[in-house]
Amino acid sequence: MKPSSTTEKKTRSGKQPLDVDAVRGDFPVLHQRIYDDKPLAYLDNAATSQKPSQVIRALVEYYEEYNSNVHRALHFMGDKATARYEESRASTARFINAPGVRNIVFTRGTTESINLVAYSWGRKFVGEGDEIIVTGMEHHSNLVPWQILAAEKNAKIRMASIREDGTLDMDEFRGMLSRRTRIVAVTHMSNVLGTINPVREIASEARSAGACILVDGAQSVPHFPVDVQDLDCDFMAFSSHKMCGPTGAGVLYAREELLEEMSPFLSGGEMISKVRDDHSTWAELPYKFEAGTPNIADVIGMAAAMEYLESVGLEEIHRHEVELTHHAIRRLEEIPGLKVFGRAPERGGAISFEVDGIHPHDLSQYVDREGVAIRAGHLCAQPLMRRLGVSAVSRASLYLYNRPEEIEQLAEAILKAGKFFSHGS
Ligand code: PLP
Repeated sequence: MKPSSTTEKKTRSGKQPLDVDAVRGDFPVLHQRIYDDKPLAYLDNAATSQKPSQVIRALVEYYEEYNSNVHRALHFMGDKATARYEESRASTARFINAPGVRNIVFTRGTTESINLVAYSWGRKFVGEGDEIIVTGMEHHSNLVPWQILAAEKNAKIRMASIREDGTLDMDEFRGMLSRRTRIVAVTHMSNVLGTINPVREIASEARSAGACILVDGAQSVPHFPVDVQDLDCDFMAFSSHKMCGPTGAGVLYAREELLEEMSPFLSGGEMISKVRDDHSTWAELPYKFEAGTPNIADVIGMAAAMEYLESVGLEEIHRHEVELTHHAIRRLEEIPGLKVFGRAPERGGAISFEVDGIHPHDLSQYVDREGVAIRAGHLCAQPLMRRLGVSAVSRASLYLYNRPEEIEQLAEAILKAGKFFSHGS
């Protein structure tokens, strides 16, 4: 994939601020006007991100030029598809600084990656009386698979608390670690509070207690540089669609020794070495975990997205988002009756809030008519909602292409909603 000339310039120039106009030029979807000619302000990036032309082109190229199955076709197009698919694995390894391609399993996304670990690693290594530590800010995807495993094995889920400011209670977490802890499953960045958790420290504590650590990278890998070796985690899960790539593709990073010890998750074609009448042996890593025809086009599209983000610069993206987040919080808090949840000093651009007297669903529908896309609901984090004392929140979530003008559009829309709902409809 070729980066656009504008983004190419930025990479070379190092620490320049992100050229948001140039970035926006890469995203065709952002330029539309909706309803009565309102500019679209897309602020629902934690749910899914938009796709640049570079990614769309990679998908079109695959289908127009070399659509074929991988690993088994003995022809030109099959060779090309296999080469691109495997190059995507190498790009993914580089993107998160994994030791090699054997550490990279392609999945459908974060949810499937975590289920793979809970199923293949968990069913082998978690037993009666063992403990699984999660935090009170986990997405359901990093909680429910562990609950199912715990119920099956008679193991116990322990949930580390969130402090008033939205950070993890590290003292309580340390106190929970024991010889019974098998795994710590923690989100790198909360999709509700924006909190970035101290994953390196958590990994080191977990390791000292003899436990494994899984990091849910769904909201971190798309937004700032993530180095799995530096974090020293055992597993890292993330999704393509939240990082400018297509839906239906994602990644499980795992230490090689663990993948070797784990049993297959799904089985059938592609993941075998030898199939006898009554038993089979498994393919080498990582293919043991990739049964059936993979999602070839979207994996190639995901690698194009990673290359795109690298060409813009992940440091630059993070800096831009942090600045815009601080601006957004300041602006939103000027609105009477609006409360932002989460005050973590280390945070990214997921900003959840409530407005006195307006249900989050009503608010999000109202601002939508003003051209602003935000999310409302429990955000797949019901345990956290209970701790915050609400059943739902509104959430604006930012990405590399968002601008202060869109924050202003949101703020104006909320102020207008305030007047509308206070006068009654
Ligand atoms: N974990 C976190 C923190 C998320 O924000 C999400 C999605 O919103 C997920 C996991 C699940 O990701 P996916 O639906 O792509 O599997």
